[in-house]
Amino acid sequence: MIRLAAETRRAHPALTAAAVIATSVAMVPLVYLVVRVVGAGAEAWGAAVTRPRVGTLAATSVALALVVAVGCLVLGVASAYLVTRTDLPGRRVWAVVAALPLAVPSYVAAFSWSAVADLWSSTSRFEGFWAAALVLTLYTAPYVYLPVAAALVGTEGWANPASGHLTSPFGYRTHPITGQHHLHTGSDVANACGSTPVYAAADGVVIWQGAGGYQGRTGNQIVMDHDGTGGVITRYGHVLTGSILVRTGDHVTAGQQIASIGGDPTLDPQGAGGSTGCHLHFEVNLLGIPVDAREHLASHGVQLGS
Ligand SMILES: [Zn+2]
Repeated sequence: MIRLAAETRRAHPALTAAAVIATSVAMVPLVYLVVRVVGAGAEAWGAAVTRPRVGTLAATSVALALVVAVGCLVLGVASAYLVTRTDLPGRRVWAVVAALPLAVPSYVAAFSWSAVADLWSSTSRFEGFWAAALVLTLYTAPYVYLPVAAALVGTEGWANPASGHLTSPFGYRTHPITGQHHLHTGSDVANACGSTPVYAAADGVVIWQGAGGYQGRTGNQIVMDHDGTGGVITRYGHVLTGSILVRTGDHVTAGQQIASIGGDPTLDPQGAGGSTGCHLHFEVNLLGIPVDAREHLASHGVQLGS
């Protein structure tokens, strides 16, 4: 029996309407600004633009952007290199710490820094150009760190894990079973259960295989470590019960068959886990963070599902 995954994405009309309303409300200040500017006339524009303060502000903004860009480049590339290419003690922890500022909005960070600095010294305040440059650099550097670390950590010799049709890509979606909106951490490749082989996407070691219980996932999965430190992990979800050809600790090579596609709950209720039809949930984690598996393969010249 062939059943294809029902995990397709479609925008609900109510969501589209809500998005249009939210966008319209967000546009109000911009529209108001345009109305005021048009109403003010050329003379007022000239007077506003030629004020000396405008020139000073513009020059400071450009200088700040330059300083922060250079700072982010140095900090982001250096931390990515230290975490991926050296045996820095505790580098798994550093890998997370380096990305952590992404979780804090920069205005919250700036406020926290100035509050702490005020506790430290009552005479000099944490403010001005270099204070702004420091906070912006620290909280923008992860945008350089993450892609550089991903590029440095990526190993050669990747393979397509399964042939089939890409039904649900990486990204936010409404879960087909729970109805909740959350990040889909993998890419789903739909094809026939049992007769479609699943291959290792790269050389590595199997660190988990079998049913449930590993890192909160349901159903059968195989997990592989590709750099020996957990920096490059691939997961193969919903594989058919009884089809798994590898054991924990086995060394595998890119393109080696490790199992067959499963995911049909009527065919394999235990192994399918949270799945509605035959498909492989394929996932790539770099430094503990799920990345778009299709893009990751594409960057190594491999097309997912082809
Ligand atoms: Zn999936």
